[in-house]
Amino acid sequence: MSATIVPFVDLKAEYESLKPEIDAAIASVIQSGVFIQGPEVASLEKELAEFVGTPVCVSAASGTDAILIALMALGVGPGDEVVTTPFSFFAAAEMIALLGARPVFVDIEEGSFNLDPALLEKSISKKCKAVIPVSLYGRPADMDEINQICGNKNIPVIEDAAQSFGATYKGKKSCAISQISITSFFPTKPLGAYGDAGAIFCQDETLGKKLRLIMNHGQSVRYDHHVVGVNGRMDAIQAAVLRVKLRRLAVQISLRQKMASRYSQHLKDLPITLPISSDERTSAWAQYSIRVKERSRVEKILSEQGIPTSVHYPSPVYAQKALASLGINSKNFPVTEKICAEILSLPMSAQLTESQQDLVVAALKKALVS
Ligand SMILES: *Cc1c(COP(=O)(O)O)cnc(C)c1O
Repeated sequence: MSATIVPFVDLKAEYESLKPEIDAAIASVIQSGVFIQGPEVASLEKELAEFVGTPVCVSAASGTDAILIALMALGVGPGDEVVTTPFSFFAAAEMIALLGARPVFVDIEEGSFNLDPALLEKSISKKCKAVIPVSLYGRPADMDEINQICGNKNIPVIEDAAQSFGATYKGKKSCAISQISITSFFPTKPLGAYGDAGAIFCQDETLGKKLRLIMNHGQSVRYDHHVVGVNGRMDAIQAAVLRVKLRRLAVQISLRQKMASRYSQHLKDLPITLPISSDERTSAWAQYSIRVKERSRVEKILSEQGIPTSVHYPSPVYAQKALASLGINSKNFPVTEKICAEILSLPMSAQLTESQQDLVVAALKKALVS
């Protein structure tokens, strides 16, 4: 293992470029003495709703809390089922299980790595209360197909847009392409805070009120609790940081898009599968993930040359020990199993420079011809 010569995500470089504004925004929150919710969070919610193009944005303490709150608002509980993808971060299935409901997994599509709409309909039983597609790596899922199947059955769709904030689908922003959506502002997501934070978006004001109640202990007025909720509140320092970064997001996303297409251009002749992209469906490029045979050998050769990589995700959600009691048979998920074994994420951020990227490309070429 050699010293890293290209950062996987360069949060420090991003901070350096925004330092005076970020420092002033944080100092102003500290001086105000309002640390939880308050005017910074309210302003952020307005700006996020405007950016995305939905009538409602409810802030949350994390993306995971946002999923939990959305499921609680839909009344998901014991005996219910919620359909989702097994090729994602654990949070969606985890929150479904936490509420006593059963996560039902649908295999993914080979090209997009997203929940396969052709397999969705037959996975929706009478017990199904919601469907959670994930816009993986920043690219929106097949939302028209999914919305149509679920619309016919009157089942709400929650887009897990934790990785796709800033992406677009047929001209609309991710988070505005389903009835409900959630996102995460975990520091390494396309719009990252300096701690945990998240948000929920929806089209319906009545549902929005319910989400807001649940997010804050079921109270709209202090000490007057209407429903059982959670402490899912965002803190004001995160909101202040996010407001500064949101103003730069469009530029940051276009830098990520530029670097993604530059990767694809330089890697196109190698024996690997490159991620897909199109004008109709732009990605926020949370990850640039290739498929490669003999992944562990390639990872090792890259690491020896100082190039960090990451695997999103090495094993399917249903294979996690925490969900063993579901008794799910991996044979029903051939695509997920295959992609888990081949996927490899390369360094990607808006701060990635062309010369850094050239080092990644050269190292990969060396790994694949040796
Ligand atoms: C990051 C992530 C989450 C969870 O968000 P947190 O803010 O870390 O709780 C949920 N779903 C997906 C797909 C994610 O990538």
